[in-house]
Amino acid sequence: MKFYAPTKVYLEKNSVKNHGREMASLGSKALIVTGRHSAAANGSLKDVTDVLEEYDVPYIIFNEVEENPSVDTVAKAAELAIGEKADFVIGIGGGSPLDAAKGVAIMAGNPEEGVECLYEKKPLKPLPFVAVPTTCGTGSEVTPNAVLTRPALHKKGSMSHNVNPDLALVDGKYLASASRNLLISTSVDALSHSIEARLHSNANEYNHMFSEYALRIWSGLIPYLTGQKEADEETYQRFMLSSTTAGMAIAQTATSLPHALSYPLTLDYGVAHGRACGFFEAAYMEEYARNKPEDVECILNLLGFADLAAFDAFMKDLLGPQAIAEEDSDKIADSLISSGKTSTYPFPIDRDGVMRILRKSLEVM
Ligand code: NAP
Ligand code: FE
Repeated sequence: MKFYAPTKVYLEKNSVKNHGREMASLGSKALIVTGRHSAAANGSLKDVTDVLEEYDVPYIIFNEVEENPSVDTVAKAAELAIGEKADFVIGIGGGSPLDAAKGVAIMAGNPEEGVECLYEKKPLKPLPFVAVPTTCGTGSEVTPNAVLTRPALHKKGSMSHNVNPDLALVDGKYLASASRNLLISTSVDALSHSIEARLHSNANEYNHMFSEYALRIWSGLIPYLTGQKEADEETYQRFMLSSTTAGMAIAQTATSLPHALSYPLTLDYGVAHGRACGFFEAAYMEEYARNKPEDVECILNLLGFADLAAFDAFMKDLLGPQAIAEEDSDKIADSLISSGKTSTYPFPIDRDGVMRILRKSLEVM
């Protein structure tokens, strides 16, 4: 059994301020990578720049990362880092800025390489990297992956290099500015990570612990997602804990079929990442239960659902309906089969099996 978790994580109130010295000691000039607005609005950017100023570490800010960031954005930020001689990278935001920042850490650490290096299989050492998450879904602060969009290929997928953050400074207080919609979408991503890591070809007892613990925490968050309860500071820390813990689980296994099916929905239908994954979880579990129902029962017990039908109804209610053109569902099934990603599913599955998942999850028109 393998378990590898090299990131030092602090999850607590005022995490950035409390551990600023460690962050500031990672280099002599920082490139801070953020999205366009949220990091400035929720206080995370100011927390980071206050600390850097306190320790006299100069910094520059790249704040142009879009959702589902493209390799072109990564290349633009890396050019800035190289020109400014930044020697470490701090990503602040949701999964999009964190993943873009991982790509920047690779490119700026290897200035002789072009943007195509992101998807080449050669060993490249990244610059030191700090992650400050402000959404509660991707777990990117503890995973080695960076999911980037490649516009020229009309494709979304993990870059070839692993960038494990040196430091993850996690603080639920940044979630206070998130809409319920964003909380739902991103926490359903964390739920998806817990389920897919638990029901994965690479799953083992170590990462079961992380998936199962994350699922237990997630079940306590349901009333806040449905609007029955109002979240407070403590709740936001729980949202972060479920997300970071689920990230620790997928860091060991990677994701499975629902994530693979979600990328075309995001690219072609503009569906937010977590929602796009969430549509497929119930049907994925149903497919899996044909082979090993006890694993699915374990998940349902931890989440507090009596059976799969109750979980399916809850997810459909939480996420709403999603339609897809029949020709697109055919294309998605074909591309999943040819990608080889079915190997992430522990049992044999053919195109009919994939179509079963698609048809149960979406309204195929
Ligand atoms: P995101 O794309 O990073 O952000 C979504 C939106 O939320 C943006 O408009 C952002 O604004 C805003 N936002 C961020 N933090 C906020 C806050 N605290 N309050 C209010 N608004 C806030 O969303 P995400 O779901 O976290 O990340 C999705 C990306 O991560 C996808 O590309 C997905 O494929 C990837 N992903 C990566 C991994 C991994 O292991 N690396 C795993 C799963 C998914 P701004 O743009 O202004 O910042
Ligand atoms: Fe995800």
